[in-house]
Amino acid sequence: ASENIVAILEGLIEKAQFLAEEKHIRISMHPSKETIAVPVEKHRILQALYNIVINAIHYTERGGQVQIRVEQVYQPDRRMDYVRITIEDNGVGIPEEDLPHIFNRFYRADHSRTRSNGGTGLGLAIAQQNILLHQGWIEVQSKAGKGTAFAVFLPAASGDFVGSGRGL
Ligand code: ATP
Ligand code: MG
Repeated sequence: ASENIVAILEGLIEKAQFLAEEKHIRISMHPSKETIAVPVEKHRILQALYNIVINAIHYTERGGQVQIRVEQVYQPDRRMDYVRITIEDNGVGIPEEDLPHIFNRFYRADHSRTRSNGGTGLGLAIAQQNILLHQGWIEVQSKAGKGTAFAVFLPAASGDFVGSGRGL
């Protein structure tokens, strides 16, 4: 089924809001109140994005920021339009040596292992699995002490070339 990814994210932000407010973290979303239709299984994508957004809140200090953006992008190598969802925080970041492992089941970077916050290290493994099931993929960029940006790519609805400027 086709789902409005913007509405999915808005619902998710509402669910995560109490956690963010507890830490005075501001979540912003762009665009809002728009429709970007994506052929996805709603509960799987909701869970994937929820895990990433909860991490962003979790691994960001009080007063921080989480920015969520949704864009349609053309991937020349795949000759296809994708919807890219970026979740960026200005939190603790991930040390370079941990980056290759964070999608592995039960892997937790040092900074989170030493905290007693009870995580299991499954959140990103589940997120990635759900995204791969949709023929999408996930990328991460991070700097320890600066912040982290996750980008989720999902195949856009076919025939929906809005904004790609390529015409038909
Ligand atoms: P849980 O299963 O409860 O989600 P977790 O958060 O430790 O536990 P993942 O969500 O899979 O597990 O994340 C794996 C590790 O990646 C985390 O332990 C943390 O070290 C690191 N990480 C993930 N997201 C971020 C982020 N936004 N900023 C900093 N580190 C992060
Ligand atoms: Mg997590």
